[in-house]
Parts: sequence; structure tokens; C-alpha cells
Amino acid sequence: MNRLKSERSTSSHQKSGASGRGLRLDAKAIQRIRKALLEEKTRLMNTSKQAIQDEIALSRDDLPDETDLAANEINQNLVFKLRDRERHLLVKINQALHRIEEGSFGHCMECEEPIEPRRLEARPVSTLCIACKEREEHREKVYA
Ligand SMILES: [Zn+2]
Repeated sequence: MNRLKSERSTSSHQKSGASGRGLRLDAKAIQRIRKALLEEKTRLMNTSKQAIQDEIALSRDDLPDETDLAANEINQNLVFKLRDRERHLLVKINQALHRIEEGSFGHCMECEEPIEPRRLEARPVSTLCIACKEREEHREKVYA
């Protein structure tokens, strides 16, 4: 049973390799995406560092005493919000880089089918193919 299954998947793999040109990312495209991810990662880390420095500088401005505390709270909330969003994106970038390293990059985490290359080039942190993504968005709409 197992032998039969693996033989079948091998032959279907060969078939998709022959007829599925352009449906998978080639090594060059993956390297390009990897570079873009690393650049985005550096940019994000610099932005959040800069944002935090800006907020600290702002909160040190000469504000009247009574507004000082409120302004500080607002600034801190902004920093946390920004850091939260960027931290979330950073996690996704790190996961994508990890998937490139282990060779699972470009495959849908839900159905394991290859994700459309155009989609990956536009949004390298995608972990779902369009069909699964649409299902997920539909689910979110229904239960939101
Ligand atoms: Zn999928």
C-alpha cells in the first residue's frame, strides 16, 4: 500500500515537473525573494529602533507638567502598537527565511500544494495558496 502510494506520487511529481513549468519558483527566484526578505528584515529593525528613539525624544520635549503624563502614555501606546505590528511581520519574515533554509518555502501550509509564484513574489511571507487563503478569509468573515 505504502509502496503503491509512493510510486504514484513519484510519477505525478514527474508529470507536474514536465507540464507545470512556471508553476513553481526556481532557485533563482527563491534567492531573489530571500534577499528581499533579508532587506525587509533589516529595514524593519531599523525603523522600529528609529521610531522608539523618536518617541523618547518627543516625550522629553518641554511639555507643561499636567500634559506630560498623558503625552507619555500616548507615545508609549504608539510605540507598542508599532512594535507589535512590526514584531508580527518580523516573525513572518523569519518563518519565511526558515522555510527557505529547510526547503519547504513556496508550499501551502494548509494543502501543501505549491503557492502561485506571482503571489510569492508579491508577498513572500504568504503561507497559504490563494484557494486556502480565500477559505480562511471567508471563515474570518463568517465568524468575525
Ligand atoms: Zn492551499
